[in-house]
Amino acid sequence: MLGWLSGRGAGERRVRRELARIADDTWRAVWSSLPFLWGLSPRQIDALRHRAAWVLASKTYTGVRGLEVTGAIRLSVAVQAALPIVELSPSLYEGWLEIVLYPGGFMIPRRQVDENGVVHEYLQPASGEAWDGGPVVLSWEDSGPGAPRGANVVIHEFAHKLDLYGGEADGMPSLHAHSDIRPREWRRVLDATMDQFDGMLDAADDAAQGGEACVAGTSRRGALPLDPYAATDEAEFFAVSSEAFFVDPAPLARAFPRWYGLLARYYRQDPLGRLPPIGQP
Ligand SMILES: [Zn+2]
Repeated sequence: MLGWLSGRGAGERRVRRELARIADDTWRAVWSSLPFLWGLSPRQIDALRHRAAWVLASKTYTGVRGLEVTGAIRLSVAVQAALPIVELSPSLYEGWLEIVLYPGGFMIPRRQVDENGVVHEYLQPASGEAWDGGPVVLSWEDSGPGAPRGANVVIHEFAHKLDLYGGEADGMPSLHAHSDIRPREWRRVLDATMDQFDGMLDAADDAAQGGEACVAGTSRRGALPLDPYAATDEAEFFAVSSEAFFVDPAPLARAFPRWYGLLARYYRQDPLGRLPPIGQP
């Protein structure tokens, strides 16, 4: 079987061919639709293009529910997926092959057994999913320029892939290439930050109890540094933090400077230093 079919990345020749195929006008359109890229240095932009070409050459794209996967959609997803690995090896995205795109949100069948042994089967709405050893599934509506501010489902799902490459989905990606980060340090900072975020959520919920405080509580919850979904577990905390890190880093860095610093050492990027806060020119 060809290497790339088994999920190994494409060779340099195929990546170069893909790189040459990126049309200038498509690149410009994608670039201008993703403002969180604008602070990258010329060297990082070159690396981003190369990594995006690696994604295009190494992954298959499948549009479902009638979505026609155009060249601009392929490139947009590849570029957003490439951002977290601009300073890392693309091999971290190896071991799986397919990117599946829905036009909008989709339903994931779930099965859960409660403490009484009762099986609950239900459909959960989703905008993205990353299977262990399988595809990344994305809602294009939530992946393109129309995504909610500060959120990025492509970065979210590819952060899960980085996490899974390190073994379980436990919020700790592979640190093999990071001799400056000890797993124990990662775990300690992650746990402490999650505790702190849980406290913020509790405070926001308390403030939301009853009367006029409800309005204040709602806005406090909206002012949290991360989407409350981050509190689900360690894997979601890492994925949601990675979205914020690249797209809207200021609130994350302000609330959790040690966690931001650790993410900056892991990704070897400092988006805070290159991006104005969202809402400011
Ligand atoms: Zn997730």
